[in-house]
Amino acid sequence: MANRFYITTPLYYVNAPPHLGHAYTEIVSDCLARYHRLNGEEVWFLTGSDEHGQKIARAAESARLTPQAFVDQMIQPFQTLWRTLHVRYDDFIRTTESRHIRSVQAALQRLFDAHQLVKSIYTGWYCVPCETYWTSTDFSAEQLAQSVKTCANCQRPVEALEEEGYDLRLGGEAQQWLLHHLDTHPEFIVPETRRNEVRSLLERPLPEVLCVTRPVRRVGWGIPAPFDAHHVVYVWVDALLNYISAVGFPDDQQRLAHWWPADVHVIGKDILRHHAIYWPMLLHALGLELPHTILAHGWWTVGDVKMSKSRGNAVDPQAVVAEYGVDALRYFVLREVPFGHDGVFTEEALVKRFNADLANDVGNLHFRTLTMVEKYTSGRIPSAHQCERSPADEVLARLRQALPQTLERAMARYDFVAALEAILVAMNRANKFIEEQAPWTVAAASHTARLHGILWQLLETLRVTTLTLWPFIPHAAERMWQALGWAEPLWQATDQRTLAQRIETAMFHDGQRIQKGQPLFPRRELT
Ligand SMILES: [Zn+2]
Repeated sequence: MANRFYITTPLYYVNAPPHLGHAYTEIVSDCLARYHRLNGEEVWFLTGSDEHGQKIARAAESARLTPQAFVDQMIQPFQTLWRTLHVRYDDFIRTTESRHIRSVQAALQRLFDAHQLVKSIYTGWYCVPCETYWTSTDFSAEQLAQSVKTCANCQRPVEALEEEGYDLRLGGEAQQWLLHHLDTHPEFIVPETRRNEVRSLLERPLPEVLCVTRPVRRVGWGIPAPFDAHHVVYVWVDALLNYISAVGFPDDQQRLAHWWPADVHVIGKDILRHHAIYWPMLLHALGLELPHTILAHGWWTVGDVKMSKSRGNAVDPQAVVAEYGVDALRYFVLREVPFGHDGVFTEEALVKRFNADLANDVGNLHFRTLTMVEKYTSGRIPSAHQCERSPADEVLARLRQALPQTLERAMARYDFVAALEAILVAMNRANKFIEEQAPWTVAAASHTARLHGILWQLLETLRVTTLTLWPFIPHAAERMWQALGWAEPLWQATDQRTLAQRIETAMFHDGQRIQKGQPLFPRRELT
């Protein structure tokens, strides 16, 4: 049986249309999922939508819709965008689906039956936009003295609250257990800056409890608590449980055992606390294992402000794709910023990246090579045994050989920049090889065996780099694969070969016919 790889995105809160930040989370997750698929592994890629809570209920009210009609409408732009971005997920879970509701209720009932929940009165503050509770320990003395307090996360005013709820214990022993897990599992939170952040939170006393329910009279739009009709499940607890509800908790034990624990939860750094503290505590209380890695990415900013709809500075990914194509956007966000850092989105930077890498290196090598194959060998791949080798070929051969391992190392540390650089270095070197070998001179001298040898080196480099580009820019890679003359798709779910094995065995057939087509990435000027 092949390795299995279970990767998730957060469930997006559908109170506003998706922006570049959402697109980035999804592209990163899809890239990792595709890399593992390409490596012959059995992959489950889960995404979805978070559809309960006060914020949705209020937005629905102002749109004069029922909450259900509102969310049915609001998930459309998300699903459309994932198609546009060539995001290939295996499951899209909605928290209003009955499979999820049943599972959440079973989880809450299990906690209740095991006396893990305590009923109490909660006094504190609540940030509606973040759906997050804050207690007096979260504010500075100066803030506590003021009548208007602001959310530490989004800086908007919080609402004072006093209400009854069911609590899960967080502090004391559970806190020590999580701190110990963090210290013994350096891969649990990536990158290290985020791990240190969680570690310092855990070194201070946490709030004693996490309130896992809300009174129905305040928050009507939620999953009813199975043990108390006056309460619904806190929207964060509801949403986090999707990671297990989607893979069979609690009824399908076999499926759950196959996929759980997840390999990677991809998240934005703004929801680190929920994923790295509350979620592990919840799993621990349920007697389930913790996910292997919580992978927190940075923010995309326009200027120096975090992008969000409410600030009116959101970049619409659909508009970027309409103008520059899906490959340009995927390539830019993965290549421009080292994973974990914040990125600044500008059209200038995107066009610069597009021209320097996609047009000059990738597009040029592809189109020049295929043009020469069309011209010199009537569009057919020359046979390897008719090719004259030269010591000059060694540099390309070495780059090709090193690629699978370089990629494996880079992807294991989520270093998309290093992975793409390695691929682009090989393509850039092949472009230089064309200049150095001057196949047009070799052709003019009728030195056919060497001409074939040069073309064969270029085609081999294209074959290997096209395969390795697929996780990053699948749309372009599939077109390149077809242009190289393969009838079968670049990737098939039934293929259990590793990437290195594929590179060794998926060779050109003698006389394989290429389909040159149009240039992939014509240079762009800023419009
Ligand atoms: Zn907030």
